[in-house]
Amino acid sequence: MKSAWVERDAEELVTSGAKSGIGRDLALRIYTTRLLGRDPRLVLHGGGNTSLKMQARDRLDDSVEVLRVKATSADMATIEAEGLPAVRLEVLRRLRALDAIADEDLVAIERANLLDPAAPNPSVEVMLHAFLPHKFVDHTHARAVLSLVDQPDGEEKCADAFGRRLAFVPYLMPGFGLAKRAIEVFERLKPSDGLILSKHGIVTFGEDARQAYERMIEMVTRAEEFIARNRKPAKPAVAPGNVAAEAQVAPIVRGACGRRNPEAEGAWRRLVLEFRCNETVQEIVNGENLSRLAQAGVVTPDHTIRTKNWPLVLPHAEGGKLDEFARQAREAAGNFVSRYRDYFARHNKRVGGGKRELDPLPRVVLVPGLGLFGLGPTKRDAIIAADIAEEWMAVVHDADLTGSFESISEAEMFDVEYWPLEQAKLGARRTPPLGGQIAAITGAAGAIGAATARAFATAGAEVALLDVNFSGAEEQAKKIGASAFPVACDVTDEESVRTVFDIVVKHFGGLDILISNAGAAWQGRIGDVREEVLRQSFELNFYGHQRAAQAAVKIMRAQGTGGCLLFNVSKQAVSPGLNFGPYGVPKAALLALMRQYALDYGSDGIRANAVNADRIRSGLLTEDFIKERATARGVSEKDYMSGNLLGREVTADDVAQAFLHLALELKTSASVTTVDGGNIAAALR
Ligand SMILES: [Zn+2]
Repeated sequence: MKSAWVERDAEELVTSGAKSGIGRDLALRIYTTRLLGRDPRLVLHGGGNTSLKMQARDRLDDSVEVLRVKATSADMATIEAEGLPAVRLEVLRRLRALDAIADEDLVAIERANLLDPAAPNPSVEVMLHAFLPHKFVDHTHARAVLSLVDQPDGEEKCADAFGRRLAFVPYLMPGFGLAKRAIEVFERLKPSDGLILSKHGIVTFGEDARQAYERMIEMVTRAEEFIARNRKPAKPAVAPGNVAAEAQVAPIVRGACGRRNPEAEGAWRRLVLEFRCNETVQEIVNGENLSRLAQAGVVTPDHTIRTKNWPLVLPHAEGGKLDEFARQAREAAGNFVSRYRDYFARHNKRVGGGKRELDPLPRVVLVPGLGLFGLGPTKRDAIIAADIAEEWMAVVHDADLTGSFESISEAEMFDVEYWPLEQAKLGARRTPPLGGQIAAITGAAGAIGAATARAFATAGAEVALLDVNFSGAEEQAKKIGASAFPVACDVTDEESVRTVFDIVVKHFGGLDILISNAGAAWQGRIGDVREEVLRQSFELNFYGHQRAAQAAVKIMRAQGTGGCLLFNVSKQAVSPGLNFGPYGVPKAALLALMRQYALDYGSDGIRANAVNADRIRSGLLTEDFIKERATARGVSEKDYMSGNLLGREVTADDVAQAFLHLALELKTSASVTTVDGGNIAAALR
């Protein structure tokens, strides 16, 4: 690999840093940290860390020597000065005299010695940085280096690849013990460029930012060259024939990896999926060593918190035999969970008890012929799991082709997985009400659809925003952020609906909630209206819902974890408006449709409910239309909009809350929630 150092960029950062009081060394520390963080061959998702030793002024304006070290929560690719908290170095150095220190004591000492008491916690590898004498220290989990050190003869391979320029530190769990071992090795062997941390990664150091960074690049390049020289060609993998499509397989995988929530009948713990199938993935999932590799363990310790120690391996999903695949997948997932529980119990006992078991569900699923799925409680977690799983495969593959892959022991993996300082990287998390659930909203660019998408995303769901107006859906999705996925969808077109639901499944792995909301109003006196107009309205206001519900139910049944259908029915279904027949009649049929779904799919745990809303400012009820109606009735616009029993205007957000409420009511089906401020003529009886 090549150095990405660009003198002009570095100097620009120094100049802009100077304006906000950031000195040259710190500016360049930020610069090379970003260079390292941006390259997935070096670090992934919060892995790796860097530091700088410098003089700083404390609150009394005394000059003190500090370690600026990456915060545990910071991402190297986008780091700013705040992501490198300053800790008094002299105190950290004194800790070397201790044989050991409890994690909570170490964290307490670090926090007590931060120059800024509000700064984030320093990296779990802070002591390694503190003990090494060099001004700049860089640490990565570079892919090529891992391929060498994750081997039984990793030390010899490293001696061959790096000469004496890097000293080899035998494996120890990250933290205080490793830092002490690393400094002992450093002082004994006095390597010129850095350290190799067995089964973990690489450290380089230097007197300036560029030197430490370019040593990293040079050493990783040496590892890459070693692999290129010694790598045997991979045996061609043979993919099984007649493989079912990803969109058919994903909901089955997702369902198999869901678990009933014992706290509430009808509730499930669900995960979101991210699919990958590059060349290396294909070689591994279709290769003859799959079952051995699947038990081989992590490539660097901190991956365990994202992927667990092992993936779940499923049999090949044969087209036309998906029932059999679903049965096998559920059984395999059940075995995975039992095995995880045994693993936890065994090692919890070994360490004297007191650990709390993490969720036992797999985070990586391998399907021969298809590829890999990353799983997580959110789409973002699923992406991280998939990225790390791909990295795992690349390292294992290269290690095997240049020797044989070997990870740390099961006990060592457990110690990292259940290390509170590693778990802290995931942050304190409470599962939101719709956490792990996937919702699709039709008509999501409109006022009610957009408000509903926002409400469901706020409640923790991943949301697919479907609309015939794609740019509108995209605009709404942008406002929501990473959990939103816009898709162009015309619910009056059967082909479009089929394709779009496949796209949603490919993106998230399945579907739990459909909010069938798309609609438009047609007017006309029912005895005079042209049949064509009525048919047009039925296409959208009845068949549009039927198509979306049909597609959703198919996915939900493949998952086997229940589901929820929500329909925007409108007041017209109950209390028809004069000359609104072309709109109201299909809406009345829609009410019957909702009840039919509730009846036919209740035994699958699928609930169907509706919201009757009235008089909401939206594409159906435009400002001009409101003005016209208010004038015709001789009332103000405000009085027109709040012309209900409560005298309050009903908003799109009120409707969204009603949908959300129905999505959370696990024991409610075939129900209609009215959101109209009170209207006796439209009251259900
Ligand atoms: Zn590390």
